[in-house]
Amino acid sequence: MRWSIAVPLILLVSLIPVTGNAYWITFVFGILIAYIVGQSWDWVAGEMGYVNLGHYLFFGIGAYVFSIALVAGWASPLAITAAILFVGFAAMLLAVPLFRLKGDYFAFATLALLPLAEVLAYNLTSITNGGDGIVLPAKQVLVQAYFVALAICIVCLLTTIKLTQSRFGYALRSIRNDEQVAETVGINIQPYKTKVLMLSAAFGAAAGSLQAWQLSYIDPVTVFGLNVALAAIAMVLFAGSGLRWGPLVGVVILASFQQWLMGNVKGYQAAIYGLIILLIGRYMPGGFLRAGWMKTTKIFSSLTKEHYEFVNNTEFDRPMVSGTKVVLPLGSVSYSSNSPLIELSNIRMQFGGNIAVNDVSLKINKGEIVGLIGPNGSGKTTLFNCISKVYEPSAGRILFDGKDLEKLSRDQVANLGVGRTFQIPRPFSDLTVQENIAIPLMFGHTNYSPERALREACAFLDYVDLSDHLKARADSLSIQGKKALEFARALACRPRLLLVDEVASGLTPAEVRRFAQHIREIRDDFGITIIWVEHIFSALEQVADRVIALEQGSVIADGTLAEVVRNERVLATYLGSTSVKQERG
Ligand code: ADP
Ligand code: MG
Repeated sequence: MRWSIAVPLILLVSLIPVTGNAYWITFVFGILIAYIVGQSWDWVAGEMGYVNLGHYLFFGIGAYVFSIALVAGWASPLAITAAILFVGFAAMLLAVPLFRLKGDYFAFATLALLPLAEVLAYNLTSITNGGDGIVLPAKQVLVQAYFVALAICIVCLLTTIKLTQSRFGYALRSIRNDEQVAETVGINIQPYKTKVLMLSAAFGAAAGSLQAWQLSYIDPVTVFGLNVALAAIAMVLFAGSGLRWGPLVGVVILASFQQWLMGNVKGYQAAIYGLIILLIGRYMPGGFLRAGWMKTTKIFSSLTKEHYEFVNNTEFDRPMVSGTKVVLPLGSVSYSSNSPLIELSNIRMQFGGNIAVNDVSLKINKGEIVGLIGPNGSGKTTLFNCISKVYEPSAGRILFDGKDLEKLSRDQVANLGVGRTFQIPRPFSDLTVQENIAIPLMFGHTNYSPERALREACAFLDYVDLSDHLKARADSLSIQGKKALEFARALACRPRLLLVDEVASGLTPAEVRRFAQHIREIRDDFGITIIWVEHIFSALEQVADRVIALEQGSVIADGTLAEVVRNERVLATYLGSTSVKQERG
């Protein structure tokens, strides 16, 4: 934000009360409140991807706690603080059941909280005074409430700006993209979800308190009614949820328009308002700030920026290069020992009646490169999912460097040193290529600041030849690009065990050789143990110390590649399989 614009704007808004015009003060006050509600909603919805349609619950409860405290004779700053703390605590409790739900279920569950709260407010008469509502002590507080609201708006905006560049914000955006992947790169997501809901709730409560203070009267419909509850959300969606300036622009335009409609086209205003939102949803999904013509119109373009366009990372550490080889910033581990890094005993994974992995036991030593082969559907990917805790194995035990993985969560397993790629790439799609790599560096043991993580990400991207796409969105990469990105992201997790799932398929023979070279390098230079699922036998031949063959979930051969391809069961399984014929023939 440029101070040359912000300071005069804030001054201008501060001067409104000086006019003494109650209409204008109330009008702008309404916009300030709508901004606090809309923006705090957007931290959960736009940043984290959880559409909380019941956000107004926090507004309403805040309004009630504030009003009750004020009537009981508390000073107003104390009453607001009480409302914020109470609602923050309530959000912490609500986070537990709510975040078990996802997508539409989350949205509807949160929406259902509003009528529930309304009914409770009507019926808990001893606390809420039921339908009669609560009348606050009569005092002229409009100007006071106005300035407090303005101050909270500024804090709200600063929080939004801070979220763009902080680890907290990156945790939220990784959750928005793919929770499972966020965990497998080492992020413990639950605390972030709870914290952002509490933060959002606290601001909602502040807005509710101020609104109650200014109105000096509340009843269940004014604070929990659906027609008011969804307005602020609609305003954010209108301009652009998840954009830094989306909530502010949406609220200013639509709240002003609504006010104008109320004055000029009484009766039809709700219909016209609704129609506009429908049209935006139909023709400019994502909000009008995301429309092409907004981006290309010079005066508007700065309002349309996505979060990554604000991230200041113009200085890159050029990666260290020795000869022609990029040196990755990974610590080296000695791997001379013959001790096992991972030991699977009787691992079984069952989906209903389908046994995908059937009592697999195997041992892989530190520093080994193991090829994992088997026809499609033989359970290779499922085995990776069991090790990285994407699935909870139905039976069996996994020891990683002597530690039992049973009680550990996905992020703990990742932080212990298990890195992986996904057969069907799952990058954080709406983040940049560089951010995709930086995220694992911000969490887990490295714990880097976003600036440092973004700088260090460049070395990993150079290593996999993606440095030309640093600032591109990950979903704009080709399928091969995405696979390379996932490989680099898995390396950035600083794994001790790397699970590589068909990364080389689709590459040209020269590219496959280069990739096999990478696999060898990361083992030789950093002591990383590797399990590589690949159908291209010539690539495995180049680097694998050992090959394990699976068939229908069971290990049918384990030895050097030469031994395994002579194994009768392997031959029988692969007979007629094009991959072996091509390779061997
Ligand atoms: P591979 O990677 O060797 O091609 P997979 O591990 O993907 O094989 O699949 C092994 C078996 O497990 C297949 O029969 C597949 O349909 C089944 N499977 C894998 N994941 C699931 C799931 N989430 N639900 C049900 N069945 C699954
Ligand atoms: Mg697979």
